[in-house]
Amino acid sequence: MRHAKPSTIYLKDYRVPDYLVDNTHLHFELKPKATLVKSRLKIRRNPAAGEGLPPLFLDGVDLILLSIAIDGALLSPEHYEKMPQRILVAVDKPEFFLDIQTCINPEDNTTLEGLYLSNGMYCTQCEAEGFRRITFYPDRPDIMSKFTTTIVAPKEYPVLLSNGNEISRGPCEGDHHYVTWEDPFAKPAYLFALVAGNLQHLEDCFITASGRKVKLQLFTEEKNINKGDHALRSLKNAMRWDEAVYGREYDLDIFMIVAVDHFNMGAMENKGLNIFNSACVLASPETATDATFQRIESIVGHEYFHNWSGNRVTCRDWFQLSLKEGFTVFRDAEFSADMNSRAVKRIEDVSLLRTNQFAEDAGPMAHPVRPDSYMEISNFYTLTVYEKGAEVVRMIHTLLGPRGFRKGSDLYFERHDGCAVTCEDFVRAMEDANQVDLVQFRRWYSQAGTPQLTVTDYFDETLGTYVLTVRQSCPPTPGQREKSPFHIPLKLGLLDKNGNELVLDGQGTTQCILEVTEAEQSFEFTELSEKPLPSLLRDFSAPVKIDYPYSIDQLLFLMSNDSDIFNRWDASQRLAFLALSDLQQAYRTGGVLQLQPELIAAYRSVLLNRDLEPALVAELLQLPSEQSIAEASVHIDAEAIVAAREFALQTLAEALFSEFRAQYTALKVRKSFSLSAKDIAERKLKNTCLLYLCATETADALALAQEQFDTANNMTDKAAALSVLINHAGDKQVNAAIEQFYQCWKEDAQVVELWFGQQSRSSRRGNLSAVEKLIQHPAFDLKNPNRVRAVIGGFAKGNFSQFHRSDGSGFEFLAEQVITLDKLNPQIAAQQVIPITRWKRYTGDLARKMKIALKKIMDSGDLSGDLYEVVSKSLN
Ligand code: ZN
Repeated sequence: MRHAKPSTIYLKDYRVPDYLVDNTHLHFELKPKATLVKSRLKIRRNPAAGEGLPPLFLDGVDLILLSIAIDGALLSPEHYEKMPQRILVAVDKPEFFLDIQTCINPEDNTTLEGLYLSNGMYCTQCEAEGFRRITFYPDRPDIMSKFTTTIVAPKEYPVLLSNGNEISRGPCEGDHHYVTWEDPFAKPAYLFALVAGNLQHLEDCFITASGRKVKLQLFTEEKNINKGDHALRSLKNAMRWDEAVYGREYDLDIFMIVAVDHFNMGAMENKGLNIFNSACVLASPETATDATFQRIESIVGHEYFHNWSGNRVTCRDWFQLSLKEGFTVFRDAEFSADMNSRAVKRIEDVSLLRTNQFAEDAGPMAHPVRPDSYMEISNFYTLTVYEKGAEVVRMIHTLLGPRGFRKGSDLYFERHDGCAVTCEDFVRAMEDANQVDLVQFRRWYSQAGTPQLTVTDYFDETLGTYVLTVRQSCPPTPGQREKSPFHIPLKLGLLDKNGNELVLDGQGTTQCILEVTEAEQSFEFTELSEKPLPSLLRDFSAPVKIDYPYSIDQLLFLMSNDSDIFNRWDASQRLAFLALSDLQQAYRTGGVLQLQPELIAAYRSVLLNRDLEPALVAELLQLPSEQSIAEASVHIDAEAIVAAREFALQTLAEALFSEFRAQYTALKVRKSFSLSAKDIAERKLKNTCLLYLCATETADALALAQEQFDTANNMTDKAAALSVLINHAGDKQVNAAIEQFYQCWKEDAQVVELWFGQQSRSSRRGNLSAVEKLIQHPAFDLKNPNRVRAVIGGFAKGNFSQFHRSDGSGFEFLAEQVITLDKLNPQIAAQQVIPITRWKRYTGDLARKMKIALKKIMDSGDLSGDLYEVVSKSLN
């Protein structure tokens, strides 16, 4: 049993800090098991905090305290009190220097927070609360301090990096050397970083709009040095884009990126020294898929954009996390949309939101974009804070228009530069710059749950008026039973029977934004000669579920006529959902499974339509994933979902075999690799065809996959072929492909992870035993989050059919892994357990078995605070 339940922290308890830290001087002597950290803090009573000299709180976790002194005088133990994760120091003057020496153990640090070793290289991760694992410090983001950092290390670590500019270097006694860095910008401790290792680097430069020259460097182990070009190119594009779109320039003379193999998240925006998970920065055409290239571009952009939205203007407290994350995700999404296909980017983001964020909103960990309480802040780096937070910023953009939004962001950066602020400050800047009222809009920050819109309509033929009635509601979430109406921008157009857009205002406007603010509200359109077909929630203008009684014919019509590309795709998804829901129903009642001929015909015409862009064709042909079907169901019947989707896929594959085959052949031309949007789209369409073809498991189709596997000149095609072989070929062919691939790529960490992931996601019956073998594979390592995410996450989050086997073996397996993992890396354990925490939505036995697995974790002994929070909330 655990010793003490972690306590809950509340937003309403926020108080300004008692003391401020103007300067932070750090001195590191790096040793794997005993790194010495000396810190000298210039501390001052916070004038905003009141009278008197209260004790000073310093956070500290897993530290050995060697000494502590005020203005040079060593403190004896009666001057400070040691508590479990902090010390309390008695203070008798309003300003002083505090010197602290601690000893830490990077080598045994498997949490990957604070200072740790990854493949022999020292690196740090301080967000959110990792700095307290380096030294005693008031570790909260509203304390902003100017840092200087000296790193002393043996010369086998030639590269010694920290934030800001290098100001001196030289030899030390023995075979050691040192480098000192100074960061001229005050920052919270969570943006501190240190890297030391034997690294190579790529170098480039960027001239800012005002003509300053910035040195760009990307550091990695020597073997990966050929995989950094794409990230550097993306960085330059991001720097240019932020100048053009937001008027934001970079502010230091150097910008560094470091790739590390062991990392809990995607990347980290430390000032001037971004640290990246290798998987989110390293790529070459031979080793990375198109999706990886695009992910890298967006994450490089994301971390770079944080320099303004996060670093120059930071968060007052961790409840405000979406202030920087929601805004920065919105910025990176727009950047990606401008660099690639805007429609495809939107489709991908909305799919992610609907499948995974909606599930979060409907689960035991549901929380508002700005949570009002937490036990472990690491559990709140969620799709709600990031992706829904970005949708909230996007809605402001939609309501104000691009120019109004830019006025708001300019005011926000100007007002709050150098400060730690709140979501409220962001919204207020938007209001003040535009003289608008966003009072009701603020509920998007405080109310959890996915709003549901129900739309009905009525046409009066004699008057020519069309009335849309919108009702909104939002389901209860933990701690919030009743919700008040949201302010929802509902973008729409109206189509006539020929598919033309109707003019809505006598001035040629064919699209409008209805501002829905009430629980029930009607909107009238006049002077129409026929009943229109509404194209609702264009471009997904709000993160809501929307229901309108579309007939199949109307959806087919929208799918081929809507001018809004997003809604054409959305119509295809609605159609598929309708069909899949009928199939599930038939499966459950023992009826005959059947796909309507109209649906097959629609897919055929998409496939044969030469006027459609390949990118859109590829998107229209995607059947909703099992996970997204599950999310859209009130009660999740996993077996019926798997059966229905499998049937739909098979039926389409067989009915359209020759069309898929012809399209595949047409796109199969051999050409040199490029990352142009057109080539990416064509590869995606080609591989979608291959997937359908191989779903038939005919020798003919599998031979195509094998040929593609053998001859592909890029990883997108190679991996797509491997995946369909793994899922559909016979054992002998599969084993040969798996083995051959591994032998070819076993030295490449990113490709090995892709290889692990494909195997654990295989829908072959009984795949759990294959996953259990992967856990035993010499390349698997529970201490490496990427391997864990590939194998354990690949299975629990990416293998719907096998994970949800009715015997519950998948859940038991996950519980065991999570228990072991929690001892090594609590953050990763808490991330991995999520799939079984949503047990309440499953039907019958599966729910019961998930709950048993959760209880087993709960009763397994001393849980970390991270895992405890997630498991206990889900058992409530
Ligand atoms: Zn971020």
